[in-house]
Amino acid sequence: IKPNSLAARDIAYHLHGYTNAVRHEQDGPLILTEGKGIYVHDENGRAYIEGMAGLWSVSLGFGEERLVEAAVRQMKKLPYYHTFTHKTSSVTVELAEKLIGLAPVPMSKVFFANSGSEANDTVIKIVWYYSNALGRPKKKKIISRQKAYHGVTVATASLTGLPNNHRDFDLPIANIIHADCPHYYRFGKEGESEAQFAQRMADSLEKLILAEGPDTVAAFIAEPVMGAGGVIVPPAGYFDLIQPILKKYDILFIADEVICGFGRTGNMFGSETFKLKPDILSCAKALSSSYLPISGVMINEKVYQALRDNSAKIGTFGHGFTYSGHPVPAAVALETLKIYEERNILAQVRSVAPAFQRELKRFADHPLVGETRGIGLVGAIELVKDKRTKEPFAPQQGVGFQAAKLCQEQGLITRAIMDSLAFCPPLIITEAEIGEMFRRFAKGLDATWAWVREQGLA
Ligand code: PLP
Repeated sequence: IKPNSLAARDIAYHLHGYTNAVRHEQDGPLILTEGKGIYVHDENGRAYIEGMAGLWSVSLGFGEERLVEAAVRQMKKLPYYHTFTHKTSSVTVELAEKLIGLAPVPMSKVFFANSGSEANDTVIKIVWYYSNALGRPKKKKIISRQKAYHGVTVATASLTGLPNNHRDFDLPIANIIHADCPHYYRFGKEGESEAQFAQRMADSLEKLILAEGPDTVAAFIAEPVMGAGGVIVPPAGYFDLIQPILKKYDILFIADEVICGFGRTGNMFGSETFKLKPDILSCAKALSSSYLPISGVMINEKVYQALRDNSAKIGTFGHGFTYSGHPVPAAVALETLKIYEERNILAQVRSVAPAFQRELKRFADHPLVGETRGIGLVGAIELVKDKRTKEPFAPQQGVGFQAAKLCQEQGLITRAIMDSLAFCPPLIITEAEIGEMFRRFAKGLDATWAWVREQGLA
């Protein structure tokens, strides 16, 4: 790493999220300078396929001029306004109406925030506010799941069900508990069918609710497909079994659509794909194709009425961000949604998803691959030490990390989640580009296999 280079300055001054500091000092950063379509270019002009659409989020790809223009137009007209004390900007009203129109189930209102974490943090506060408003101060627990990802604020990192979000941060906070992770390949028992596994997951959720006391459980939160936990598609029937249990104990259902929202699974929302009927829904990322930060929380009429009645009694709803409903990201989001409609993004996803899923499955026979999984335009390939027994590599061997690095050398950005490599390309990807993405992956995977043998790891 050359002295005074961008890389050296990055190492000197910049603390990265989700980055191993020691490895970062050794290897330095990948510094990107531009992007077009599904490609990004580094400071040396090298092109990479962005197989993760950034962080599962740049749905329309890089360099979409219309989004840039929408932002500039709005910046010139009204660069900022807020949504406190009965005020708002016109474009924010338009976006709210549009989102409520797109909702997978009847929704009443949308609250705006800036990130998925802020949206889910708001969800937690709405749930607690709702319980208080209904005079049920004991009904405050929120059930999330192991391996779920719902954010990194103190409260949403608590919802997240991954050890490194809790360990060392003294989390989770009180009133947040975790149910089992419905990953059939990893947690299904010998001889257990997928349907039996789904039933066992539902039974164990009900047991958990009963053990905690139904009058203490306020809500259950789930991503339709778990993303950052490793792209875990629920077993068939899972949500059909879970939703009646939530109803039975008067527990709110929250769908975290931060990754699945806006076409990823082949429908506008993952809730449609899995027939979910959430009371509350959070979304972000593809809402603006991530060109500017914006997220939303939709609530149904039942939740809204409780908030409304409480306002009548106690005054204002004491929550809101300086940038809630910011007109510039709102304008970009509105333009993003317009583009989805005009270009029929759902038809596009449905037309290329079969090729994407076929390509993923093609790797199932590779000696390093334990499982390939996915739906729509999201998927993962899990590397294992022993294909037959599913034995994973030891975490400190860093096989997934090495695989992502070797893919990067092939001009492909993917994401290692432990030893699962995730794929979540821009929704605009063509079939030919999908082919090219997996050709690069195949080379990276073979290089990983060679490395694993060289190191004597398998
Ligand atoms: N929820 C889900 C399902 C996510 O995947 C993420 C981020 O990846 C979040 C919430 C948190 O979003 P943010 O990183 O914008 O705070």
